[in-house]
Amino acid sequence: MISFVNKLKEYLKHKVFNCISECADELGYETYVIGGYVRDRILKRKEPKDIDVVCVGSGIELAKKVAKKLHGRPQVQVFKNFGTAMVLHGDLELEFVGARKESYRKDSRKPIVENGSLEDDQNRRDFTINALALCLNKNRFGELVDPFNGIQDLENGIIRTPLNPDITYSDDPLRMMRAVRFATQLDFSIEQESLLALKRNCKRLEIISQERITDELNKIITAKQPSKGFKLLFNTELLHQFFPEFVALHGVETIQGKKHKDNFYHTLEVLENLAKNTNDLWLRWAALLHDIAKPPTKRFEEGHGWTFHGHEFLGSKMVPKIFKRLKLPLNEKMKYVQKLVLLHLRPIVLSKDIVSDSAIRRLLFDAGEDVEDLMLLCEADITSKNEVKVKRFLNNFKIVRQKLKDIEERDHIRNWQPPISGELIMQTFNMEPGKLVGDLKNAIREAILDGVITNEYEKAFEFMHTKAKELGLKEH
Ligand code: ATP
Ligand code: MG
Repeated sequence: MISFVNKLKEYLKHKVFNCISECADELGYETYVIGGYVRDRILKRKEPKDIDVVCVGSGIELAKKVAKKLHGRPQVQVFKNFGTAMVLHGDLELEFVGARKESYRKDSRKPIVENGSLEDDQNRRDFTINALALCLNKNRFGELVDPFNGIQDLENGIIRTPLNPDITYSDDPLRMMRAVRFATQLDFSIEQESLLALKRNCKRLEIISQERITDELNKIITAKQPSKGFKLLFNTELLHQFFPEFVALHGVETIQGKKHKDNFYHTLEVLENLAKNTNDLWLRWAALLHDIAKPPTKRFEEGHGWTFHGHEFLGSKMVPKIFKRLKLPLNEKMKYVQKLVLLHLRPIVLSKDIVSDSAIRRLLFDAGEDVEDLMLLCEADITSKNEVKVKRFLNNFKIVRQKLKDIEERDHIRNWQPPISGELIMQTFNMEPGKLVGDLKNAIREAILDGVITNEYEKAFEFMHTKAKELGLKEH
């Protein structure tokens, strides 16, 4: 036990803890560091940059005193609505709050707040592993206060609510998303009672803003093993509350003894494969959405089997609607996801034995700078259980990568810059801006992509003249 306490003191070596300790004693406040910081240090996760401090007294007063001692000025950022105050120190974010007691109304996740004891404050925390508190007052420095045996849950990898889970989740339904998020990030299991309570309370998610839900979802997506989170969201039916298109991927239908694959689990496998090679949130979103239009395009063709014709087109069209509803950004990130969804079948076609250079150039043109990400997505999309097949497909993509590299070195299509500008076209033929200029520019581009001419200024200039003649244009 003594060695454990010493170890906990290790976590309080940073000089800010000494400073908080002195200030707390001067004000006569019982003070603790609580929550994520304690949890992550014990778990030996990377050292957290946000430190939550709770005191039995005024969090704002304590923050001011700490700021004064650290920086010479009592300047703090106060969040009046939450009764908290923040002090930035180097790359650390110190957040101070007075211990509080909370009671909830049915229609809101905003509680009625009163001052309270440490115990009251720990009762309002979401999980036992997030309620661990280390005392900072000098005479009890490093003492752990752990009324719900959160240490044991940390050791056993369990997510458990301090109080009855039905009450904890119903009071603030965002905690349901947090439960799944922590289970995914920490690779923990959600305790059985909690799991049942998630399912019973899933509809309560409706009082939570979509932004908050999506923040948690994105944290799940960027976790090391995101599929765990999606399976939990599905099984608890939380997913059904905000992402019906994804739920629709689930299931297998059989007609005339022919089955199609379960696209829900397939998509999660793709995401999991991709997660090994990238942490990029938007590339991971592309994996999640690459087959999103399989349910609405699914057909059974007599004598042929299941088809999903055009799912890449419809899928890319569905992206903006989904992004809008989930309050994801409607900017170039969305366009990037759309592009990858639209193009995700193209490299497969290019892996066939006989493929023209122009097909390669067209993919380079369409994918542009994102061609590498597209290849990562396609490679992740191989989920066959047949090792021989997997090897063959991967090898095919290696060949495609080589072809893309060779053609790019020769033709420079990827970062497309038209060799002949609209300006030059207008000058040469004394034209006003208009459709004809665009037509000529497009004709030049198509000729390059088709391999009629090489991607060089002289060739393009010559071609422009030939084309202009056909169109009956006269040189200036
Ligand atoms: P991370 O910073 O990795 O998201 P964290 O546990 O620090 O993890 P924060 O959102 O920073 O999470 O919250 C800090 C602490 O506040 C938590 O550890 C928990 O004790 C408490 N907390 C946060 N959100 C809630 C909530 N919705 N309900 C109850 N307690 C919460
Ligand atoms: Mg935190």
